[in-house]
Amino acid sequence: MISNVCVLGAGRMGSSIVRTLLGYGYPTWVWNRTAAKCGPLAALGATVAPSVADGFRAADVVIINVLDYAASDALLKQDGVASVLAGKAVVQLTSGSPRLAREEARWVEAHGAGYLDGAIMATPDFIGKPETALLYSGSRDVYEAHKPLLFALGGGTSFVGEIPGQASALDTALLTQMWGGLFGALQGMAIAEVEGLSLEMFRSHLSAFKPVVDAALFDLVDRTNARRFAGDDATLASLGAHYSAFQHLLEACEERGLDAGIASRHGYDLSAGAFARAHGR
Ligand code: NAD
Repeated sequence: MISNVCVLGAGRMGSSIVRTLLGYGYPTWVWNRTAAKCGPLAALGATVAPSVADGFRAADVVIINVLDYAASDALLKQDGVASVLAGKAVVQLTSGSPRLAREEARWVEAHGAGYLDGAIMATPDFIGKPETALLYSGSRDVYEAHKPLLFALGGGTSFVGEIPGQASALDTALLTQMWGGLFGALQGMAIAEVEGLSLEMFRSHLSAFKPVVDAALFDLVDRTNARRFAGDDATLASLGAHYSAFQHLLEACEERGLDAGIASRHGYDLSAGAFARAHGR
């Protein structure tokens, strides 16, 4: 049976979700704080819900995609909404922290609805593509019951766990890794430019270096998972070798007066004495 869906929020992401659902033939309602934003979606076949409560009444599945949890909370907790929640599936695609997801789940479930908390690992133009990943946690029943709809939004969809905040936690963990890489790239570009290297050259060498970096990344995760911290036969570069090479980054920055703050203020104690003490040398 194909579900009726209501999407609360017609921003960049919400609009893309609505367009995708319409493309798959889902009867779709849409509500947005500024109703005018729903116009282009209505032209594609969406029905504009006059209120959030009307959206809940019309739909089996309500997807929330507004700016943040404060906005989402205000929508859910307004007069007339709590009483129409029972029996609905609420899919929260607004970004938030694990705690906010857990709290929202408790509140929604206390009002008789099922709750699935999602993290969208993509920009709006990727919604509906086979490779697009959305992570979900919370009610496995809601996930299983609405799998076709969830997979319509992204073929790389997966269920992370039954604790509602787990999708948000995985999203944050993955983004942390991405931001570390992006901050590193900014530092790298500064070094390249100050030494007269073009960013085209930096970029082209990034591709060749990427498999080595990826292998080191997965090795780090696997070793940490196995709590295998000491060097062994499989070690390709010892901690000492990394430490020594890392000094070149600091020297390169110091020689040209570049701020090495990103490298040196993020938990590394780079004094040789501290390194020796930490490693029993
Ligand atoms: P956007 O700024 O384009 O849209 C924000 C939406 O929130 C609008 O519909 C706006 O009307 C609504 N809104 C804001 N404050 C509100 C309030 N107080 N009450 C009711 N509605 C309110 O943002 P977006 O890019 O569509 O992002 C929406 C959500 O999706 C965010 O939580 C964002 O983190 C998440 N997300 C976005 C992307 C992306 O690439 N754009 C990727 C992953 C996740």
